[in-house]
Amino acid sequence: FSVGVSIGIAYAPHDQDNAEQLLSFADMALYEAKRNGRNRYECFHAGLRAEAHRRRLVETELRAALHLGQLQLHYQPIVDVQSNLITGYEALLRWEHPSRGMIMPMDFIPIAEETGIIHEIGARVLNLACQEAATWEGQETVSVNLSAIQFKNAGLVRTVTLALSDSGLAPQRLELEITESVLLGNNEQNVHILRELKSMGVAIALDDFGTGYSSLGYLRSFPFDRIKIDKSFVHDMCESAQAMSIIRAITELSTSLMIKTTAEGVESIEQMQRLAAEGCSHVQGYLYGQPEPASALKENWKKRR
Ligand code: C2E
Ligand code: MG
Ligand code: MG
Repeated sequence: FSVGVSIGIAYAPHDQDNAEQLLSFADMALYEAKRNGRNRYECFHAGLRAEAHRRRLVETELRAALHLGQLQLHYQPIVDVQSNLITGYEALLRWEHPSRGMIMPMDFIPIAEETGIIHEIGARVLNLACQEAATWEGQETVSVNLSAIQFKNAGLVRTVTLALSDSGLAPQRLELEITESVLLGNNEQNVHILRELKSMGVAIALDDFGTGYSSLGYLRSFPFDRIKIDKSFVHDMCESAQAMSIIRAITELSTSLMIKTTAEGVESIEQMQRLAAEGCSHVQGYLYGQPEPASALKENWKKRR
């Protein structure tokens, strides 16, 4: 057994002289220690109180946003390097806040994960993405991001099954994007869930590859359909020999394992050409299109006709 400890500290009477309040401040400091990677201590300061207040506000607003339909999906094309055709779209979550405007996922997904609303949000995203993709004229795939927290819910496979059956979308047109954190610590149960999803015909992609542990063992523990090369490498590839070497290693490995690769964050023709030369099978990025609402996709298709 390896035992860890996280500690939150609040001082009396400096921080507070009321026992109940003092404990709640120590608790805030404890959560901060956990957020900062556990096995450490943090002391309470006023910023933590403001941050806790902000998180509670976002949490309440998120619950309302779910019911008011303020959570929308934007879709970004994924392009086949050989044919130059769009083979699918990644669904990216946007919060259309009535007064603060559009809020990006990085500003609310972590709070949704901490508070557990991610399960409801995740189910909503799956339903919406499948429903919208089922109305597309072509047979493009739709890629949906799953948070590692969603794997803690025993109902995940059922949520995916229901999203498919309610929308009538063929399972082959759905791809789920996960990050390495889902496989962290040789999580057998999560691998089992992934296998179940795959056996339904749903494709599984490993997102942001190269940034986390990038353990090659993960590629053995589950037969991924696609590896997504993180955009930080693509961003640096034309200036940094290291970034280029990492991209080369990932594409070579994927090619020999017969796994598709999507390079994320492709913004220039030069990046695209180099990625094509390295044998990367798909590209995604502003060069091909920004994430747009489903209605804008349909407008684009109409114009092209
Ligand atoms: P991701 O899955 O790696 O998505 C790619 C991110 O790169 C998106 O950011 C996209 O807008 C951005 N991007 C695309 N092309 C370019 C480019 O050419 N240049 C640059 N600089 N960026 C580009 P976004 O939409 O802000 O999403 C951020 C992250 O939030 C996503 O990263 C994903 O991890 C998470 N996320 C988004 N939607 C969902 C969702 O429905 N559920 C969950 N659990 N996470 C989501
Ligand atoms: Mg993704
Ligand atoms: Mg990514």
